[in-house]
Amino acid sequence: MTADAIRTITVIGAGTMGHGIAHVAAVTGARVHLYDALAGAAAAGVAKVGKNLAKGVELGKVSAADRDAALARIVAHDDLTAACDGTDCVIEAVPEKLELKREIFAAVDKAAPAHALLATNTSSLPVAQIAASVANPARMVGMHFFNPVHVMKLVEVVRHAGSDPAQVALAVALSERFGKTPIVVADSPGFASSRLGLVIGLEAMRMVEQGVASAADIDTAMKLGYGHPMGPLELTDLVGLDVRLGIAEYLTGAIGAGFTPPQILRDKVAAGKLGKKSGEGFYQWSADGKRL
Ligand code: NAD
Repeated sequence: MTADAIRTITVIGAGTMGHGIAHVAAVTGARVHLYDALAGAAAAGVAKVGKNLAKGVELGKVSAADRDAALARIVAHDDLTAACDGTDCVIEAVPEKLELKREIFAAVDKAAPAHALLATNTSSLPVAQIAASVANPARMVGMHFFNPVHVMKLVEVVRHAGSDPAQVALAVALSERFGKTPIVVADSPGFASSRLGLVIGLEAMRMVEQGVASAADIDTAMKLGYGHPMGPLELTDLVGLDVRLGIAEYLTGAIGAGFTPPQILRDKVAAGKLGKKSGEGFYQWSADGKRL
């Protein structure tokens, strides 16, 4: 199958990442089945896509006709079997829990056609272990998108030891069709981006903890000194402190003690300071998502 032959894409999980993946898939002409287990979440995901497309129209990046056509291609589902019916590709974006992802793919395996490309948007979990939940693990790859999906250009395509090279090539071509720049990485803990990004993020947190400089000054150092578009602590607030804590704990076991979460991260997560989504992390955030 070629990327252009992928006409229907099922996205599982309509949260931060899932609605963004649905957005880029629909804009590039695919019919999208957006499924979420939480009642109303898939419809809310479609509404978020509508909001982001409306912003695109305001900025002159998308025509009103293209916005309407893209939105009309997305269908919200609360039934997994119906969402997988006749699909050519399933992209999963449910929370970062290995058992949950394995359960979902075991169900997808029964519901989706045998030719469908299967992809997980995991940030760090072993793709091979997720792939082991389906009868033919060769058709599974990682497609690691970045937040916000309709803006960020990178997709890490993750090949596990048993991936079919043709499916890896298909995921690369599909990422390009979405207007992204794919890189191919081995199925190694944290892949390339989460592993490297977390080293900088965790060290920045330790520096705040040790009083080396303020969060804002550390972020400024990386922006002006190294040309990063965003500092590591603001990025942590955007990703979610709970998400970064989960990845750090996993990488500590998988790679080593260098990824041990700093106490300041544990304390903030325990206090419900999860970043932008909760209104406070290393910075304060307004309800409409502006840094205060
Ligand atoms: P999220 O919590 O925003 O969304 C997850 C969605 O999955 C929710 O809407 C939830 O209702 C739904 N869900 C839960 N159980 C489900 C089930 N059994 N079936 C169907 N839907 C179910 O999470 P997210 O931030 O979008 O992360 C999703 C995945 O993407 C994770 O693997 C995460 O590591 C990865 N990821 C996240 C980011 C990020 O910046 N947030 C970036 C790259 C990758």
